[in-house]
Amino acid sequence: MDIKIAGGGLSGLLTAYFIKNNFKKINIEIFEKLKLEKYRIDCAEGLVNQRNSFKILGKLVKQFIVNKLSKVVWIFVLDKDEIRRSEIRNKNFCLMIDRLNFQLSLIKNLEKVGVKINFGEKVEKVEDLDGEIVVDARGSKPGEHCNVAVYKILSGNFEKIKDVNFWTIKDREPETLYWIFPLGKDKANFGCGGKAKMVKLNEFIKFSSDLLNLEIDKCVKKGAGLLDHSYAAMLYQGKEKEVVFDLGKKKVVKVGDAAGLVDPFYGEGISGAALSAYLLSKLDLENYKKLLRKNNEFLKERMAAVIDRIKNFETFMKYMIMLDGVDAKYLKFKPLFILRYPLKFLKIMKEV
Ligand SMILES: Cc1cc2nc3c(=O)[nH]c(=O)nc-3n(C[C@H](O)[C@H](O)[C@H](O)COP(=O)(O)OP(=O)(O)OC[C@H]3O[C@@H](n4cnc5c(N)ncnc54)[C@H](O)[C@@H]3O)c2cc1C
Repeated sequence: MDIKIAGGGLSGLLTAYFIKNNFKKINIEIFEKLKLEKYRIDCAEGLVNQRNSFKILGKLVKQFIVNKLSKVVWIFVLDKDEIRRSEIRNKNFCLMIDRLNFQLSLIKNLEKVGVKINFGEKVEKVEDLDGEIVVDARGSKPGEHCNVAVYKILSGNFEKIKDVNFWTIKDREPETLYWIFPLGKDKANFGCGGKAKMVKLNEFIKFSSDLLNLEIDKCVKKGAGLLDHSYAAMLYQGKEKEVVFDLGKKKVVKVGDAAGLVDPFYGEGISGAALSAYLLSKLDLENYKKLLRKNNEFLKERMAAVIDRIKNFETFMKYMIMLDGVDAKYLKFKPLFILRYPLKFLKIMKEV
């Protein structure tokens, strides 16, 4: 069997890797539009523990972990410069990974097992590739359910916040979410997603470094990208995004951002890329569709939460502030939450 993959980003490489693990004899060829010298990653590189990502990627990324985050702090910036804060403890919820070196090592491994990777080859139409299965792993493209994200990696002194993930949101622009992801004690990724722009990000960098008293040195990298959350948006509308297309002799299958698997709330997509590649590697396309749906059903709620956040910012903020001091593991199971935080539960019920 021949498999062709358009896109040599995370989901394309992982699809090839997992398929080769399951079926050694299958021929796989990857087409990546960037030349190897220009190959780059535009991401905050936070691997969050959802959609089974720690299980799927755990061993593979182990040597590329650069930092571990165990606290989430929400900062709400209100009109008239009032600031509210809420801290949620979440042990090891996010691993910061060196994606570029991780993906370069995947490339090396794939070439060793005979996968041909053609760099500098753009695929305009996936259906033009021959192969019994053609995988579309070309990432996000501009479209209706697509956000913009911009980021800067700054060097400086981040010792005191090195295990904290900050999310900031302003009541005047609740559709944009700002983040700080420390990559260790001397580097951090600052960015924003939604209606994001570099000028807004620069304002945020100034605001957050003043607020948190950070010493910033210089910008070592910057970039931007798109975030396709169409899978979630369609689930929310009671539809399901098509990810498998039967073209007679060949089948076209979408993975990762090309399948619209970004979490609309956080802009998180590494786990969607990993999960879809893993599920596709069984090469049972009917089951792929079903399992993808089952494991991404939670995105419907994430979409509802985004809409709530935008339309009803004040309620959203109050709810998050009431969660201050909560250990995130209790958020998942309502009965445990009620037992552990009865007063908070009553307050939330009263307010929301
Ligand atoms: C600024 C930013 C920050 C982010 N931060 C996080 C985060 O902290 N955590 C998280 O989980 N997710 C994050 N994401 C999302 C995450 O990066 C994506 O979900 C993930 O990269 C998806 O992987 P992918 O392989 O599907 O797509 P991509 O990583 O986009 O890979 C697609 C590949 O296809 C290639 N390609 C594109 N078009 C063609 C073509 N026509 N022909 C051939 N090749 C093509 C591209 O060059 C690229 O190499 C962030 C995204 C952005 C933009």
